[in-house]
Amino acid sequence: MYFIDVILPIPLEKFFTYRVSETEAEFLEPGMRVGVPFGKSKVYTALVFKVHRTPPEIYEAKEIHRILDESPIVNAFQLKHWKWMAQYYMCSLGEVFRSAVPSAFLLESETLILRNTSHEVDELALKDDEFLVFEALQHQSILKVHEVSSIVDKKNVLPVLHRLLQKKVIVLKEEMYEQYKPKLERFVKLSHAYRSEESLETLLESLTRAPQQSQVILSIFQIQGMSKKPIKTKELEKVSGASKAVIKALIEKDILEEYTIKVDRVNYEGEHEEYDVKSLNEYQQIALDDIHRNFNDKRVTLLYGVTSSGKTEVYVQLIENCIQLGKQALYLLPEIALTTQLITRLQAYFGEKVSVYHSKYNVQERIEVWNNVLAQKSKAQIVIGARSALFLPFSNVGLIIVDEEHEGSFKQFDPAPRYHARDAAIVLANLHDCNILLGSATPSIESFYNTRSGKYGLAEIKRRYGNVLMPEMELVDLKEQTRKKRMKGHFSERLLEEIQTALDEGEQVILFQNRRGYAPIVECSVCGHSPQCPNCDVSLTYHQYKKQLRCHYCGYHMALQESCQACGSSALDTKGFGTEQVEKELETLFPEAKTSRMDLDTTRGKHGYEKIITAFEQQEIDILVGTQMLTKGLDFRNVSLVGIMSADSLLNFPDYRAHERCFQLLTQVAGRAGRTKKRGKVIIQSYNPYHQILKQVTTHDYESMFKEQMYEREQYKYPPKNRIIRITFKHKEYNRLNEAAEWFARGLRKAFGGSVLGPEYPPVARIRNQYLKNVMVKIPMGQSLSKTKSAIKRIEKSFDAVSQYRSVRVIYNVDHV
Ligand code: ADP
Ligand code: ZN
Ligand code: ZN
Repeated sequence: MYFIDVILPIPLEKFFTYRVSETEAEFLEPGMRVGVPFGKSKVYTALVFKVHRTPPEIYEAKEIHRILDESPIVNAFQLKHWKWMAQYYMCSLGEVFRSAVPSAFLLESETLILRNTSHEVDELALKDDEFLVFEALQHQSILKVHEVSSIVDKKNVLPVLHRLLQKKVIVLKEEMYEQYKPKLERFVKLSHAYRSEESLETLLESLTRAPQQSQVILSIFQIQGMSKKPIKTKELEKVSGASKAVIKALIEKDILEEYTIKVDRVNYEGEHEEYDVKSLNEYQQIALDDIHRNFNDKRVTLLYGVTSSGKTEVYVQLIENCIQLGKQALYLLPEIALTTQLITRLQAYFGEKVSVYHSKYNVQERIEVWNNVLAQKSKAQIVIGARSALFLPFSNVGLIIVDEEHEGSFKQFDPAPRYHARDAAIVLANLHDCNILLGSATPSIESFYNTRSGKYGLAEIKRRYGNVLMPEMELVDLKEQTRKKRMKGHFSERLLEEIQTALDEGEQVILFQNRRGYAPIVECSVCGHSPQCPNCDVSLTYHQYKKQLRCHYCGYHMALQESCQACGSSALDTKGFGTEQVEKELETLFPEAKTSRMDLDTTRGKHGYEKIITAFEQQEIDILVGTQMLTKGLDFRNVSLVGIMSADSLLNFPDYRAHERCFQLLTQVAGRAGRTKKRGKVIIQSYNPYHQILKQVTTHDYESMFKEQMYEREQYKYPPKNRIIRITFKHKEYNRLNEAAEWFARGLRKAFGGSVLGPEYPPVARIRNQYLKNVMVKIPMGQSLSKTKSAIKRIEKSFDAVSQYRSVRVIYNVDHV
């Protein structure tokens, strides 16, 4: 007997074992997909992990339905990497599998309903709704559940189906279907019958009265004269000048033959202009040499280069080296920083070798990149992608670059695996035995600490390219400005002056406000009531444009009421402000200027983001207002002023990383100013202008920020010297959640004593009607991480054994950021 262990795409701790025949066992390899039955009626796509001859001990192995691949779609490197990920981030291998492959690789199972032909139906015994379904099945052999739903005009059709099953009127069929359809392109060729000289001559003669048709035939030869490639139908249309109908007529007469070929969707289009790789300046060259030197004896090196120092050019050199050696290069960026700006720059150097892997691409495009990487095609030799690009089937990685390594969005938050792409990339580099470069103008405390401790190498560029000075920074005290009545809306006098100067000089301005919408709170000035989200513990944000109140956590929205819902007064006031309000104020303050806004609300859709960036680049916009989307590695030429509308919300965030984040964010936004020639200017408005972090930002003093943060983190036992695991409990009943979290925390305290914090409510303690509570486990240096995790898992086992806690969700976030 032969068996396979498979990974199912669900949160199951263990492998599942199925029976296969001897021939199947010989054919199957780890990394191939199989369709398998699971539970009563489910069908899943599973991934073969191991082929063996040991039957499972506690259950009878079922047979697989069928084999779905001819060769593995997942390789051994990936399986190792995924195993590490599941173990490290405390989730199941199935969850990693689900998140790692394009969703179309996981065939869906859909219930189909068929007429039970082996049973004589007594029509009179059927109820009305049952009869409707029965009747529909006379006309149509197969129905899907949602079709039944519209036939009987009910949402919940399971009871009807259930009765029909009992009366043996119908049978169910689970069927899998492949979602992925490769894109096919149409090509034409001359039919076989006309390949010889003679037959061709006869043909052309017969077409003398159809000059368009003979022109088409001649065009075929014209095209073939230029290139031996297959001829696209579209191309023939263009060259011959004939219409679709003419070509169609020829196909119908069997003179031409049309056929289709599968083509890649992610072709790099446009001519490959030969760009010379730029020669590095002296500082870039020193950094590159340092990187090479470090790579000799260190796996990881950090490139700490100030904004606009030309890090990208250094990456280009390293990538060039890597592909010269015939190896694959992976370039990771935060999702949001993956802009055409950068992609175009890299494509200019490397042409078709660059593939992009991006969540905004559709599933077909992603499958094509996957297959190209799997087949080690040269067109996917360099992959630029967001964090999920880590999961591609690389077999020969020579270099990994993690740009903007400090970015928190490298950490996946939901669903599991809650991995950090930078850290997972380092493990991937280990598996492929290659080097990895982390790059940033504001390195994370962790990475910088690792260079200090000697674990990572360090290379630095301290000057901006072209010796442009770092922007000049100015703090504006909002308290004082308010007192002196110098404010116009949310603009201080200084900021207004500087905007005016920039506009007069024909330069562009970026304004940063870390909140979208018009105002985060609408409040009744009579009774103090402010509208809350019914599903979450948070007030609704006012969006003036749509006259709506919206919840940013669950998407709930309602029209803005004319009067207070509690007391009926119409004296409604707003508190706080978002990007929308800044934009509105600009319209009155600078009516001549063209303003635009870049935040989640204005950048939806595949190209929403690109459009704004391009318009700004081409100077169709004078002032761009935006959230932190603005900070991510954008290179604009003509921005001379950056204004931070309010630094305070960044300073007061309740998180041990708030100060580090604030430093990074402000430095990065400021870095958009004055990237060429003229020195840029940055104005930071704040009610706390004497705050230490703001001082460090304005003096570009990363070192003291680092020292101070390290000191605090050591004091309070936070990373990098300690590790943390955050455990979130989630349930819709308030009391049960409290009890359960308390129970779990007691167990943790028994095991780890004082290094357990909580349970505590997060700032938003209810989201989508689920209450949340967090416990933080701190793991001091020297305490084994894996033993700690096993201990936590043991506590979870006994927790699950308490019946009233079983429905409470327990979510692990290892290295929570
Ligand atoms: P960073 O990523 O460090 O912020 P970039 O790589 O975007 O900086 O470089 C900033 C600007 O300087 C870009 O417009 C880039 O084209 C230019 N630049 C950088 N290095 C060179 C070089 N060696 N030769 C010419 N231009 C360069
Ligand atoms: Zn009121
Ligand atoms: Zn909500």
